[in-house]
Amino acid sequence: MPRIIVLGGGVCGLTAGMLLTRDGHEVTVLERDAAPVPESVDEAWEKWSRDGVTQFRLAHFLAPAGRVVLEDTLPDVLAALDSAGALRLDLLGLMPPNLAEDGARAGDERFVTYTARRPVFEQVLGAAAEGEPGLEVRRGSAVKELTMRVGSGTPHVTGVRLHSGETLPADLVVDAMGRSSQMPRWLSDAGIGPLHEESEDSGFIYYGRYFRSADGTTPQPIGPLLAPIGTFSILTLPSDSGTWAVTIVASSGDQVLKRMRDPDLWTAVIEACPLHAHWLAGEPISDLESMGGVLDRYRRPLIDGRPLITGIALLGDAWACTNPSLGRGMSLGLLHTQCLREVVSSHLDEGPLEFAQAWDAVTEAQLTPWYRETVAEDRDRLHEIDALRNGLEPAAPSERSAVLRGALNTAMLHDPDLFRAYLASRSVFTPLSETFAEDGAAERTLELAGANERLLLPGPSREELLALLG
Ligand SMILES: Cc1cc2nc3c(=O)[nH]c(=O)nc-3n(C[C@H](O)[C@H](O)[C@H](O)COP(=O)(O)OP(=O)(O)OC[C@H]3O[C@@H](n4cnc5c(N)ncnc54)[C@H](O)[C@@H]3O)c2cc1C
Repeated sequence: MPRIIVLGGGVCGLTAGMLLTRDGHEVTVLERDAAPVPESVDEAWEKWSRDGVTQFRLAHFLAPAGRVVLEDTLPDVLAALDSAGALRLDLLGLMPPNLAEDGARAGDERFVTYTARRPVFEQVLGAAAEGEPGLEVRRGSAVKELTMRVGSGTPHVTGVRLHSGETLPADLVVDAMGRSSQMPRWLSDAGIGPLHEESEDSGFIYYGRYFRSADGTTPQPIGPLLAPIGTFSILTLPSDSGTWAVTIVASSGDQVLKRMRDPDLWTAVIEACPLHAHWLAGEPISDLESMGGVLDRYRRPLIDGRPLITGIALLGDAWACTNPSLGRGMSLGLLHTQCLREVVSSHLDEGPLEFAQAWDAVTEAQLTPWYRETVAEDRDRLHEIDALRNGLEPAAPSERSAVLRGALNTAMLHDPDLFRAYLASRSVFTPLSETFAEDGAAERTLELAGANERLLLPGPSREELLALLG
């Protein structure tokens, strides 16, 4: 029976651990954070120390594609999430009423998700993984380095060494150590690489906090969950048990907006946004937290089409991570994990090189388009913010894909199928590049965008914003 070691017990590590165990592999998940999984979701929210996941108490939303992966592969976990108070949310509820009148379409039910605060999600996942027969989850086990066989051929990972000095052999090591994965350094210390890496600061900073209602309800969204308002955006995410997150997303270069670290000023900015002020009507259950320096980063351990190393698979954020305001990371990670299960089952027996090539091919085909599109969308928005900060009209984009993405923001408000295409992108079902490749979709988008004014969401002008921030 192949022995698999998964490094990191976050969303992807635990999911991979459970799926691979259910397929009959001998799996150990090694998680650096020592704190045990709390008994209850309330304890997880109040006390769970998860230093390994900096964003643990920041806004998190599970997109519908993530729900589908759980439903198909771990229905027991989805049921437990539901029992833990996860919110069932139908993104079609965001559709403007005039479009909704057009009636339902086959497949509309796919836009439903179950979402919860990150500590709640991880508590449910953690408890399920620990109860999984045959799966070993070791918390407080920090991995120090890889053990390898280095000879004349491609270097091969044979296992890992922990900080305690213990070594564990493996037929496959899965790197699910998230954004902070030290894998490239470990490879470089062993004289391997460098692996292909593209990395840039996504350019955004987040200021957010969670609220809870007295009656268990969550505010009704008016407009998109991520709403651009001039030089900032507001992200409003309904969540479990009558809680929700409100986050302001700004350009990290916009120094004056850093004053929003002050909760009173942050509140004043939200209050000045008529479609969003009602999201403040609850009891704050977290401090105002901020996070910047979030990287867009993509890694590919191949050189000239040949794997740099075998015996290892980069998974989830350890493979690629982006600006999180589109809320795709966990769902992409879950899709990636589902791919891992398939490639392990179809290729692990064929040999390390075959496995590495198959893993790369699937990742490139299924996941990389999402990475590229998310980074492109971020750049569109940052260019717009930069122009508006300087009092300029944002320049029309020259690339056709950017033109189409911009046009869709207007066109989708006038066509129910384009609105669904937008939701399919937000839900992590279909990248916009695929939608626009369909017959007539690009033409229809451009036609409707040309015939209608762009809808600007109400909120303070740049001058009013600066005045609010003093
Ligand atoms: C501010 C912010 C908001 C976000 N919001 C959303 C959202 O709304 N929706 C969404 O889908 N995604 C969101 N994301 C992205 C999401 O959090 C990640 O995509 C997801 O957590 C990736 O899961 P992972 O398992 O790959 O890594 P992680 O969840 O980061 O887990 C990595 C694990 O590896 C462990 N580890 C690290 N080093 C070692 C070591 N040496 N030995 C052993 N263990 C180790 C860590 O302790 C950690 O537990 C957000 C991210 C940020 C930064």
